[in-house]
Amino acid sequence: MTDRSALTRKILLGMLLGLALGSLVHSLSVDESSPVMVFGINGIIDLGGQIFIVSLKLLVVPLVFVSLACGASNLSGGTSLGRIGLKTISLYLLTTAIAISLALMASNIVNPGLGMALSSEAVFVGKDTPAFKQVLLDIFPSNPVKAMAEGNMLQVIVFSILVGVAISKSGHNGSRLRESLNDWNEVIMKLVLMLMSVAPIGVFCLMTSVFSNMGFSGILDLIQYFLTVVGALFLHFVFTYFILLRVLAHCSPTKFFKDFYPVMVYAFSTSSSSATLPITLETLEKRMGIKKEVASFTAPLGATINMDGTAIMQGVATVFIAQAYGVEIGFSGYLMVIMTATMASIGTAGVPGVGLITLALVLQQVGLPVEGIALIIGVDRLLDMLRTSINVGGDATVAAIVAKSEGKFHYP
Ligand code: ASP
Repeated sequence: MTDRSALTRKILLGMLLGLALGSLVHSLSVDESSPVMVFGINGIIDLGGQIFIVSLKLLVVPLVFVSLACGASNLSGGTSLGRIGLKTISLYLLTTAIAISLALMASNIVNPGLGMALSSEAVFVGKDTPAFKQVLLDIFPSNPVKAMAEGNMLQVIVFSILVGVAISKSGHNGSRLRESLNDWNEVIMKLVLMLMSVAPIGVFCLMTSVFSNMGFSGILDLIQYFLTVVGALFLHFVFTYFILLRVLAHCSPTKFFKDFYPVMVYAFSTSSSSATLPITLETLEKRMGIKKEVASFTAPLGATINMDGTAIMQGVATVFIAQAYGVEIGFSGYLMVIMTATMASIGTAGVPGVGLITLALVLQQVGLPVEGIALIIGVDRLLDMLRTSINVGGDATVAAIVAKSEGKFHYP
């Protein structure tokens, strides 16, 4: 067994043990003020989980900068960058639109909210969406240090690409810098590996603390909604991703996800595409044979704007809330949901729970009561974990397709 597959098994074991221990503690209804909870679960175990997440986040900005500046400097010029950018963004939008359409279809078959007969006084108040000009302007950094300090990924991406392009145009000096960035890249990748070696413990801590504090009773009340989201996530995974990988990336989807699933386990236990990013990048580059030029662009961009799982939750939630309040959305309403949920998922940061906040945008656009979010909040923690895994799986799928089309995918 290789080191990596041994590690993968340990991570899976950490996840299962955490899940079991957390669920056990929860089912025993241990008193919040008991030493087991105070010092154990909410003390040392929670601390372990938090340290793990913080350390993952620590690597995001340096890794994205070094790897993207390096990657961009290796590309032949503006044309290939523009082409890769266009393909990536189009595929992200396309997969997200497919994801919501699937979610809307599934929820119209299951009708998860029928019969709840809630009434709402809420009236549709159009929310001022930020001016398009401002949204575009915010992509461009005025101060790279500030962008990095705030973890503003789009700005960091733009800055890194600019530096990369300048390096490629700077002759001898540029190539010296590229070599040194390459060295830095290897060092940071090593850091990611070091962190991965303690991941089984980190994942165990995260899972234990989440599941010991998570109520399952809410899930029973919302079982139809919960299962519709899970079903749509699953369908999107096995149909959309599998078909796209087979047809456009010419690889075996089963093998692809067998190699990639540890990253999805991280995403599941951290509920954050951003925190998972260092591991996504390391795996795409070192294990899946996707060249740095493509992986370093597609993965950070995906962790920032591509959220298929989130869009699925938002699609099902919208239908659920409409049905619960007895509001007819109609065909044009569905089109509106597809458009706004695609935009909302772009605006969803890759951190826990944000998808539920941007859901307000979608609800407002179709004139549904925003307080409907309260109906589903109880089951969102677990759904957040599941949809984050799909979000990350979507990023990898698109990275593979774009890399294949550029001749930069050499799957071992
Ligand atoms: N937790 C999700 C992510 O990081 C975002 C969300 O849907 O809340 O990908």
